[in-house]
Amino acid sequence: YFIFPVRRPCGMMVLVNPQSGRGQAIALYNGHVQRMLTEADIPHTLFITERQNHARDLVRSADLTQWDALVILSGDGLLFEVVNGLMERQDWEKAIQTPLGILPGGSGNALAASVHHYARASPVWGEDLLTSCGFLLCKGLVSKLDLISIRLSSGARLFSFLSLAWGFVADVDIESEQFRQIGALRFILGTLLRLASLRIYQGKLAFLPAENERGSDSASFSPADSRLPDHLLAPLEQPVPQDWTLVEEREFVLVLAMFQSHLGEDLLAAPDARADDGLIHLFYVTAGISRATLLRLFRAMQTGTHLDCGCAHLVYRRARALRLEPLSAAGIITVDGERVEYGPVQAQVHRGNVSVKFQ
Ligand code: ADP
Ligand code: MG
Repeated sequence: YFIFPVRRPCGMMVLVNPQSGRGQAIALYNGHVQRMLTEADIPHTLFITERQNHARDLVRSADLTQWDALVILSGDGLLFEVVNGLMERQDWEKAIQTPLGILPGGSGNALAASVHHYARASPVWGEDLLTSCGFLLCKGLVSKLDLISIRLSSGARLFSFLSLAWGFVADVDIESEQFRQIGALRFILGTLLRLASLRIYQGKLAFLPAENERGSDSASFSPADSRLPDHLLAPLEQPVPQDWTLVEEREFVLVLAMFQSHLGEDLLAAPDARADDGLIHLFYVTAGISRATLLRLFRAMQTGTHLDCGCAHLVYRRARALRLEPLSAAGIITVDGERVEYGPVQAQVHRGNVSVKFQ
C-alpha cells in the first residue's frame, strides 16, 4: 500500500513591516517576540515585507494549509493588507477563516489595543501591550471579528476590520505620517496641528440604524462580485433605502465609523464595542464646536468618557450600514488608517467573518 505524504501545518507565519512605527518592528521581534514564541513552543517563520502590498501578495498566493495562523507584527496597515489579500483569493471563504494574530509593532495599533481591551485587562501601552498581545496569542484561542464591506465610487471594494474616517481624524492620521519617527506621539502632534487650522467638511451622511436589523427590500446590491453580498446597500447612484436615517446636518468636523473599540493605542473611541457585535459605532461631530471642546473630547477619549462630556456637537449612533457623500472638493478618507480614494463611500457590517487568535 501507499503512504501519501501528509502536509502538516508548520506553525505561524509572522509578517513584519520593518518600516512601521519608528522602524522598530524587527527589534521588537528579536527582543521579545522570538523568545515568547519559542518559550510557548510555537514554531514560526519570519517574513519581512519589502514594500507596500508585499504582505497582500504573499497571502493571496500562500498555501494556507501550511500555516496555523498568520501573525502581523506591525500597525493596523499591514493587517489591512492581509485581510484584503485573503479576501482576493478564489477560496476567500475558507481563507478568511485562517486564524490571524496581531502584535503591536507600528504607530497605529488600534486592533491590538482593542484585543487587549476585550480581554478585560487594564490599559497598557507600548511594549506592555506587545507582551499582553503576545500572551493572548500564545494561549491560542480563536475568536470571531466582524468584517466590514466598503464600497467606493469607482466600484472598488475593500474589507475593513477597524474604522472608516473622514474629516479631522482622517486628516490627522495621514498628515501625521511625516512624524512617523516619534511613534504613537505622532497622533497627538497631528491633533494639535489640525486643531490650530480646524476645518469644516461639507457632506451628506445616512445610515441604517441598528434597530432596523432586517433592512428593506429596496436595498440588495448584487453586482458580479459574489463575495459576501451587501444585502443592506443600494447602489451608490440610487438613493439610500427607505428605512435609513438621513442626517440633517451637512457640515461636519469629523465622521468616524468604528468597528472595534480603539482608534489608537490610547484612544478608546467605542467603549462598548465588542469584536463581533455586528455593529458600526458611528460618531460625528458637527460644525460649530470650539477648538477647546474638541480637544476636551479627544482627551476624554483616552479613557472612553467622551460621550459623558455632554457635548451637543458630538453624536453617537449604532448602525449596520452607512453612506457618506463628501461635497467638499478634496479631502481624505481612511479605512483602517489607510488612505482610500476620495468620494462617495458606503459600508455594511458582516458579523463575525474573520478568525482572530485571542480571547
Ligand atoms: P504604522 O502603524 O506605523 O502606520 P502599518 O503597519 O500601518 O504601520 O504600516 C504602514 C504602511 O506601510 C502601510 O500602508 C503598509 O501597507 C506599508 N508597508 C508595509 N510593508 C512595507 C515596507 N516594507 N516598506 C514600506 N511600506 C510598507
Ligand atoms: Mg498604519
